[in-house]
Amino acid sequence: MLLAGDLGGTKTLVGLFEEHPSRPRPLDVRTFATLDAPSLGALVRTFLDTSPLGAVDVRAACVGVAGPVVAGRAELTNVPWSVSEAELADAIGGAPSRLVNDLVALGHGVDVLHDEEMRVLQAGKADPHGNGVLLAPGTGLGQALLVRRDGRFEPMPSEGGHTDFAARTDREIAFVRWLIARAGRADVESVCSGPGLGNLAHFTHGGLCPLLPADTPESDVPPHVSATALAGRCEACREAFHLFVSALGAVAGNLALHGLATGGVFIGGGIPPRILPGLEDGRFVEAFVSKAPMTALLGRMPIAVILNPKAGLLGAAVCASRR
Ligand SMILES: [Zn+2]
Repeated sequence: MLLAGDLGGTKTLVGLFEEHPSRPRPLDVRTFATLDAPSLGALVRTFLDTSPLGAVDVRAACVGVAGPVVAGRAELTNVPWSVSEAELADAIGGAPSRLVNDLVALGHGVDVLHDEEMRVLQAGKADPHGNGVLLAPGTGLGQALLVRRDGRFEPMPSEGGHTDFAARTDREIAFVRWLIARAGRADVESVCSGPGLGNLAHFTHGGLCPLLPADTPESDVPPHVSATALAGRCEACREAFHLFVSALGAVAGNLALHGLATGGVFIGGGIPPRILPGLEDGRFVEAFVSKAPMTALLGRMPIAVILNPKAGLLGAAVCASRR
């Protein structure tokens, strides 16, 4: 049996998976409120103690966490714990345990996803020997490089979401000036994420969208902007949303060039499945390929959105099985 986890700031998914040659099979998957537990070890022990499967023999474990993992430890943003592979191993009776960045976990899942769990944005022509890249806009902008090794993707962690955003148009340059005045710098995550869409909307409206009540929490702004833009109900929301989609395409193209992603570009995270019509209207792909003299190369790279919301947990199970 394999134990997999996807540890987030608000909720944590934990699962027991049966090993299988094509992909691990989930037998017991449950969601926990992260902060109800005092530590990752305690959370995993609660999960195992309350499993309907009874006492199980866990052969290996892997948990994906938001943030960099260094020497088997991670400090988490939004969670007042540090976590370690040692405490994970303790909680499962000493079996091999691995803590990985959440995008590394998701990257392990890419190889085993079925066609119906992806939405193709650009068919391209996948090079079976080529590398891939992964990016996931959500609370931040997670990234990973997928290095092809022995016929499968080996994910390499990245903190590329914190690299500098490169503006391409006068409007983006004006936005970058606005961001720098407000936040001191313009990293890609402050454009291509949920909060990034909130920043863009603040910029295009000159404040809060007039369709929203004045006491609207920041976290409610991005879903409003997407929905209002797609429904054509507010011009400033529409502009913010189009800037967002185009910037995301351009940033994905930059990452694809860094990794020479002829094997595929994969878009994960919570936002893309909810804004598919906006990603499929041509703006994303146009921004992705518009990097002369590399336009033809970028046009051959397959691009797909990951639709399975539990792909990160599945990837952690794959990671555990590969130990
Ligand atoms: Zn608006």
